[in-house]
Amino acid sequence: MSTATATATAVRPEPMLGESTTAPGLVIAPDAVYGHYTGLWRVVHVVSGLHIYAPLPLTYAREYAVLLARSDVDWARDAAQLAQDGRASGAARTALRQVREAARAHRPAVLDAPSVYPVPPLYYLTGDPDRRYRTWSEVVQAAEQYHRTSYWPQVADEQVAREDRPSWGMRCAALFCNPGGGSAVLRDWAASLPCLYRSRKALLVEARLADWTRLDEQHWLCPDCADSYRDPRHADL
Ligand SMILES: [Zn+2]
Repeated sequence: MSTATATATAVRPEPMLGESTTAPGLVIAPDAVYGHYTGLWRVVHVVSGLHIYAPLPLTYAREYAVLLARSDVDWARDAAQLAQDGRASGAARTALRQVREAARAHRPAVLDAPSVYPVPPLYYLTGDPDRRYRTWSEVVQAAEQYHRTSYWPQVADEQVAREDRPSWGMRCAALFCNPGGGSAVLRDWAASLPCLYRSRKALLVEARLADWTRLDEQHWLCPDCADSYRDPRHADL
């Protein structure tokens, strides 16, 4: 290795460790004071390592980064360029105000798609119309299972049929409901299958019974998210 190469390698900065965001140039990293994690998180400008305003609880830090990503500011530029761009500081302040207002109201600063979603007409077996299936393969599997396990003679006119209109399901409107994969959906009492109703009104009644929280006409929170947003510390942000 030449001296020049060795020197270049030695001074290369450590990569910024953090959770990636939808804003190129920004990550989310733990907040620390004198090397100790404070329980909060910061949106960090990767190029400079500078923090963007205040530390926040993790969910709000993630939502703050989403708002910054939507601001049409190029956060991947160096710190000096960002400092000269009034739009950048304006966007950061506006987004932080949105996050703080949401925190005081114990609700998300950013919402996902509407919670009530349509499901194409469901399939069922005419001999067992109360059990309904979302896909052709599911109803075929059920028919096969029924055929193999039933002790009763098969009904002569057993058929696969399909409803004539869509059903409705509900999913959580928190953008970071389940970062590991997919938002929570309203499930039946055994938590095994999504609750699907032909009546939107019946779906909303079931959601209330299952402790889902209505935010507005379109958006509901699953019980876990509603709990996390009710954290009393959020009122102090
Ligand atoms: Zn949720």
